[in-house]
Amino acid sequence: MAEHQDRTLQRLTEGILRFQQDVYPARQDEYAYAAQNPQKPHTLLITCSDSRIDPEALTQSGPGQIFVTRNIGNMVPPYGEMLGGVSAVVEYAVDALGVQHAVICGHTDCGAMKGLLAEPGKLDSMPAVKSWLRNADGAKREAMAVDGDEPSLKTVTEQNVLTQMQHLRSHPSVAGAIARGTLTISGWVYDIEHGDVRIYNEAEDRFRSVREGAAAGQHAVGAAA
Ligand SMILES: [Zn+2]
Repeated sequence: MAEHQDRTLQRLTEGILRFQQDVYPARQDEYAYAAQNPQKPHTLLITCSDSRIDPEALTQSGPGQIFVTRNIGNMVPPYGEMLGGVSAVVEYAVDALGVQHAVICGHTDCGAMKGLLAEPGKLDSMPAVKSWLRNADGAKREAMAVDGDEPSLKTVTEQNVLTQMQHLRSHPSVAGAIARGTLTISGWVYDIEHGDVRIYNEAEDRFRSVREGAAAGQHAVGAAA
């Protein structure tokens, strides 16, 4: 192992030791409860792998509360196209765990969205990424319909959240739970710089800051099934 890799591993183990010393004792009851009871997360959260996103911190969730899956560009392949990891997570979360809500959470400054807007050929050296981004082809087209030939990063990011919500609804477990009224879904864009989240409001057909919802004294979640 190269020396710099050793140092990185050391950094990680030091973090674990600090967790054991400072964090765990203060929250021991919470962790004991989590260890002794089956998980019952209320929400499935699908977000980007971007290392600047911290879903538990952002939603102030503790162990056992949110079931998280992450991938490049917070995508959900439409049902039947790629029955891989994401599809299995969705099915398990809805059918086995019975989550009551599912979130597609995009974010500002997303590398995947920039990749989608990049010149064709720019991603040739990363064939796996290039292939994965095809799950957002529809989003790019929608964004072009909104902004014209050169859509903004903001528009593509928002349209991608809406596209992935559509894909999510194509999964039989999700469609069934929505029809039964046991599951709702929402689409978010996390603004890393300002610590804000904008949630898609179906009635107004726009993404609205949670602050706006809070200021108006309304429940922030606007987009139901
Ligand atoms: Zn991203």
